[in-house]
Amino acid sequence: MHQLGTRLAREYGAIFVGNVNASALAKGLHSKSVLDAGWSTFRTMLRYKCAAAGAWFDEVDEALSSQTCSCCGARTGPKGVAGLGIREWTCSHCGTIHDRDRNAARNILAVGRDRLAGGRQAGIT
Ligand SMILES: [Zn+2]
Repeated sequence: MHQLGTRLAREYGAIFVGNVNASALAKGLHSKSVLDAGWSTFRTMLRYKCAAAGAWFDEVDEALSSQTCSCCGARTGPKGVAGLGIREWTCSHCGTIHDRDRNAARNILAVGRDRLAGGRQAGIT
């Protein structure tokens, strides 16, 4: 985690992460994967490594990031607990095929960039 955090902080000028509540998730369905990932620890580490490297770091509201199409903004992605197992989906509005995690990451990046640019409040609308 140290090496990856250092590399990311040095390589990128701005890093945005979702504000997922790891402790809440750890009590739920995906507890093992959340705890294995050590997400909270990594996020904390990444924050201070970015500060040391002079990179921008911010947490943004990731609500709906996996349901929202990063191309057209339609909320056509898989929903609810049943939708968590769906790794790839096609937007019924624009036809774009999405990898669930990459689509969510693109949405989080867009929110972070908007916030950094002083635009609308963070959050997917
Ligand atoms: Zn779309």
